[in-house]
Amino acid sequence: MTHVFNFSAGPAVLPKEVLQQAASEMLDWHGSGMSVMEMSHRGPEFSSIHRQALDDLRELLDVPANYKILFQQGGGLGQNAIVPLNLAGRRQDPVIDFVHTGSWSGKSIKEAARYARVNVAASSEAEGFARVPARGAWKLSPDAAYLHICTNETIDGVEYPDAPATDPNVPIVADMSSHILSRKIDISKFGVIFAGAQKNIGPAGLTLVIVRDDLLDYASPQCPSAFNWKTCAEHDSLYNTPPTYSIYIAGLVFAWLKANGGVAAMEARNVEKARLLYEALDRDDFYANRVAPEFRSRMNVPFYLRDEALNQSFLAGAQARGLLQLKGHKSVGGMRASIYNAMPIEGVQALVDYLNEFAGR
Ligand SMILES: *Cc1c(COP(=O)(O)O)cnc(C)c1O
Repeated sequence: MTHVFNFSAGPAVLPKEVLQQAASEMLDWHGSGMSVMEMSHRGPEFSSIHRQALDDLRELLDVPANYKILFQQGGGLGQNAIVPLNLAGRRQDPVIDFVHTGSWSGKSIKEAARYARVNVAASSEAEGFARVPARGAWKLSPDAAYLHICTNETIDGVEYPDAPATDPNVPIVADMSSHILSRKIDISKFGVIFAGAQKNIGPAGLTLVIVRDDLLDYASPQCPSAFNWKTCAEHDSLYNTPPTYSIYIAGLVFAWLKANGGVAAMEARNVEKARLLYEALDRDDFYANRVAPEFRSRMNVPFYLRDEALNQSFLAGAQARGLLQLKGHKSVGGMRASIYNAMPIEGVQALVDYLNEFAGR
């Protein structure tokens, strides 16, 4: 097999060791005679897989005891509706606050507006989403049902350096789809965290929700039962059939993370990978990343060639070297390198070598 480095934004690269283990267990999981795909989600074999994945994730993220970890379906976009259906009911005539930092928070605003009033407390749209708006300029509602932020904008390459300080009576809901497990986070600063799995956790089809216990009681009567966080929590994410195979692979990824030093070790590696790549992009003005340095994402690095007429030959040359899926999102053009946990530093180095060589030519 040819050796490649896959820079896809998602579904994205998985650790090779995880795929090898999954392959070796494909037909017969631990002597059960069954593939994980063929197991009852309520049987003892899958129960042990499910339990281990939950325990490992709780340990990796240091999730406090008063938070539930839910495995749902519907993806990050699904949560854009599921969150207001579960949480807008905290207030009568609710308003939901948003900070608009890019494409994904933009989609969240549109979807939430179908369920409640929305207040865009701050936006960096006028500056081309080059930063997170300064905290002091956010026009937060005094009594919002919650505040929604996207802590890593996958398309625009903007990442919050830390959790914003806000009114403790207004829970923060954070879409962490594309950087969960890439850096240490203080879960207690958030009311709800959600993440589609296909960026930094595992295969598509699984959605992770971490929700504080006191926020489980506000679902609207219209909220589908299968997406009601409380129902889901009471049934240990087995109210309906969960995406069992995706949970299994996610569990292998969690075990891989633990074996490789956990989130702290990943963060150190991710800092180094991002430094290497941004340094190469900044070195000469052949390339440009348009995000203010303190808000540059460690996971998703969009960049442009000054001469956009060279885009096709850049991509073809990258492909020929086994550097795959570098084309930027269609809404913003240019290039994008996603360098999630499973991207080894060698992959980033190979990209840097290519960037230097292509600019030199
Ligand atoms: C990918 C992504 C989503 C959308 O996830 P789906 O699983 O396609 O619904 C939402 N938010 C962010 C930040 C993402 O990166």
